[in-house]
Amino acid sequence: MIVVTEQEADLVADHLQQSRTDFDREHLEKGSQGMMIMHTIPCDFLQTNNACSVYEKRFGGCREFPALHLPGFTARLFTTFMHYDRCPIIFNVVEQLKEVLSFDRNDT
Ligand code: SF4
Repeated sequence: MIVVTEQEADLVADHLQQSRTDFDREHLEKGSQGMMIMHTIPCDFLQTNNACSVYEKRFGGCREFPALHLPGFTARLFTTFMHYDRCPIIFNVVEQLKEVLSFDRNDT
């Protein structure tokens, strides 16, 4: 789930040369308490070549993923692996973690 702030939505809408009304309708789902999230999985901005079409303007959650500096990383593992094969950022971070941690799938 990608949480989007008003400021981030403004930035990406501008980048896409879309009105906020169109951007919100096409890409966002709004919760009852004003929280906004991307409404598709995989994200609308993931291209067929696995690149992010809004990379320079990507959302804060994308920039800080996997948020190792924040508490509760193990609680987010399910979400992380749920999108492992869809999002290049998740794939690349997990693959780098495997290297750093000397992960060996045959080491049981
Ligand atoms: S980094 Fe991934 S999840 Fe974030 S906007 Fe780009 S394609 Fe979407």
